Amino acid sequence: MFFEDIPSKQTEKDFLRHQVKEARIPHAQLFLGQEGSGALALALAFVSYIYCEDKTPTDSCGKCKACNLTHRLIHPDLHLAFPVIKKDGLKREETTSDAFIQEWRKLILENPYANVFDWTIAMGGDSKPNINTRECNEIIQKLGLQSFTDGPKIMLIWLPEFLGKEGNRLLKLIEEPTPDTYIILVSEDQNKILPTILSRCQLVKVPFFEDHAVKALLEKRSALSPTTMDEIIRLSGGNMSKAIRLTKSDDNSFSDLLLSWLRTSYKGDAIEMSKLANEIASMSVDRQQQFCEYGLHYLREFFSWMVTGITPKMSNTEIESSKKLSAIVDAEKMSAIAAVVQEIIYAINRNANQKVLWMAQSITVGDILRNKANNYVEKFNFANQI
Ligand SMILES: [Zn+2]
Repeated sequence: MFFEDIPSKQTEKDFLRHQVKEARIPHAQLFLGQEGSGALALALAFVSYIYCEDKTPTDSCGKCKACNLTHRLIHPDLHLAFPVIKKDGLKREETTSDAFIQEWRKLILENPYANVFDWTIAMGGDSKPNINTRECNEIIQKLGLQSFTDGPKIMLIWLPEFLGKEGNRLLKLIEEPTPDTYIILVSEDQNKILPTILSRCQLVKVPFFEDHAVKALLEKRSALSPTTMDEIIRLSGGNMSKAIRLTKSDDNSFSDLLLSWLRTSYKGDAIEMSKLANEIASMSVDRQQQFCEYGLHYLREFFSWMVTGITPKMSNTEIESSKKLSAIVDAEKMSAIAAVVQEIIYAINRNANQKVLWMAQSITVGDILRNKANNYVEKFNFANQI
């Protein structure tokens, strides 16, 4: 990965290049940016820059022996760890990143803005991935090895929020690293990182992309009409992962599905509701979660539009449907429905029976829409988000 492949982000790039030039790279750094912010892309460009034997003031050369390895993610001193699911033929507790390293390289080289859903699908699974005890032991073991080249050893851990309590095993390593070792954590959610790990890392905050940066990258990746381009930029809100996904027009089907879920719930016909609940429950867990995330995004934009009048980050089709929906939905109902969607996400994560779950929550949403659930207590707190 080159720095120049990542549009914009000059402040973050300068900060990282400065560390290398001054030979003052912290032992442990946490790249922190929400999904689609490019934190992983920056970390990979940084790794190439550290190892490059012929770097320019702004980027790695892309030609030297080290670049030949880092740009393909196969440098022997670059160790990679990330959440995984069970691999066929292995037990879950035996499966570590090494079992999926080829799939990870393929996905990330193709799309360094990929998120954990893309990753789970690339592994061919539909269960929630994690970073297990064996992985932690292997991380410690790998960093105890001699360096294969003359350079430093780097351990890059993508999504350390999937470590859970296992992370405590890594604390000592982060606190007292082995010589000439850099630990780079790339996280999307600061709240899920163990505070003890957080306090021991230098923080590199990575904000969302600006609109012009999203445009610059999309122009390189795909040929889009100016209208579609504008629509995707508006919808993505600076989330590059989402922008790339939208070019594959995945969200169009979610948009239709969400509207028919709301309509069917409102109508309250038990047979239709059950049919749709089964249809949604038959999607993989990841698709269901993506659908819920999409639903939250849609409701958030809709809410913000109603309350503030600011043009929502929605496609033209969604804006048209929202206008129709506004006849039966007000801001309060929207918050209540968002709280239901949030509950669905939690329940899916807890392996609830999905058909029962979708049916029950469709009934709740129908009640909300028909004013029968005025005291639906837990409202989604949109107010903090707009
Ligand atoms: Zn180079």
